[in-house]
Amino acid sequence: MLFLFFLTGNILFGFDGFENKSTIRYIHPSYFEIKEEPVEKFATWKSKPDVKICNYAPVTVDQVKRALSWWEKLGYKFGYVYRSNCVENAHYGNIVISLAGQDFDFNRSYGTTNLHYDTSTGVVHWAQIFLPENVRERVLEHEIGHALGWHHSARTGHILHPSWQRGGWDSTGLRVPTLNLTRSKSALKSP
Ligand SMILES: [Zn+2]
Repeated sequence: MLFLFFLTGNILFGFDGFENKSTIRYIHPSYFEIKEEPVEKFATWKSKPDVKICNYAPVTVDQVKRALSWWEKLGYKFGYVYRSNCVENAHYGNIVISLAGQDFDFNRSYGTTNLHYDTSTGVVHWAQIFLPENVRERVLEHEIGHALGWHHSARTGHILHPSWQRGGWDSTGLRVPTLNLTRSKSALKSP
């Protein structure tokens, strides 16, 4: 709970019917959310998220697929990637990508992600990424990182560094751990 307190300024609690449901809104740059190296995960998807690209989102399906493949190389899995008019209310199970509205501060931010998740279980319900026109390099990959449940990283050159200028393609700490099969093999050897 300590980190939640630390993040208070950036959490919008939305108790709209569900207990423990909350939304974290990432606004860049912000220095309230930086975790010590390399990076910390606070929420997880229970199943592969589908990726819904709203009609006015400033990215193509191919651009989104390229950004997702960067995460797939680290072991993450996604479901369908599709365009939508996004008029439906149900976004459960989806990462939704939208064009940022007029309230978006283009001087402060290159992208924003709202993550809707259960604070007691850490299970993500859905996420929404807002992008301005002319999306900068790395921004989509960075926001997908938040949509997957990652905090910012203090590591210079890291994809999750909150400052675009000080960020980069470093993926330290993000790889999905693989099962340790060596242990079960050696267990078979014991009498
Ligand atoms: Zn961020």
